[in-house]
Amino acid sequence: MTRILQGVLEFQRRIFAEKKELFEELGKGQKPLALFITCADSRISPDLLAQTQPGELFHLRNAGNIVPPYGIVSGGEDATIEFAVHYLRVRDIILCGHAKCGAIHGLLHPENLGTLPAVGRWVEHSRGLLQRLKPGSDDEQLQQAIELNVVTQLEHLRTHPAVKTALEARTLRMHGWVYDFERGKVTVYDPLKNQFVPLAESIRDKMLRDAGRDQGPRSEWETRA
Ligand SMILES: [Zn+2]
Repeated sequence: MTRILQGVLEFQRRIFAEKKELFEELGKGQKPLALFITCADSRISPDLLAQTQPGELFHLRNAGNIVPPYGIVSGGEDATIEFAVHYLRVRDIILCGHAKCGAIHGLLHPENLGTLPAVGRWVEHSRGLLQRLKPGSDDEQLQQAIELNVVTQLEHLRTHPAVKTALEARTLRMHGWVYDFERGKVTVYDPLKNQFVPLAESIRDKMLRDAGRDQGPRSEWETRA
């Protein structure tokens, strides 16, 4: 705890003074760039990853970056998504899984969740992905499951009325990412290829598609909206 308290004192002494104008501006309200949904895992720091400031990302975090289908649990997920999309009108949702996710490991190995019944119940929302798993080593299957979980949660997001409405109005885009914190790498789900590609490749592909939009196919998320 001492480490954390020292951190707060340092923030108050130095960082707050340096960014005083930013914090005053935030007092007027928030207009975040995106809703960032990721795991509660301590190794993931969205603002560090995206180099964003307070006020730029609206966060939703839980074990396994899981978004249950709308209305089936009375947790905070439905409310947080509704607030971000319907009220704050974020234009993007980033659903970001990560390498070595303990929650997804637990889904694959329920025998390890004996003393964690709440975690066991929570990861049940991702159980459907197990049917799509291909054979492989433990590590390969974990990586596959982490990616499939992101795709599953993007599908669940579409059941949320605020998301569905905004997608239909083309005022919202969804992005599925996997962050490998050991290597600093991000891969992005490409619905047209139905696979994850490196972030730089995803940006290049998007620019090419946008350039040829009049002739080329639209992205799957748009056509499915
Ligand atoms: Zn995790």
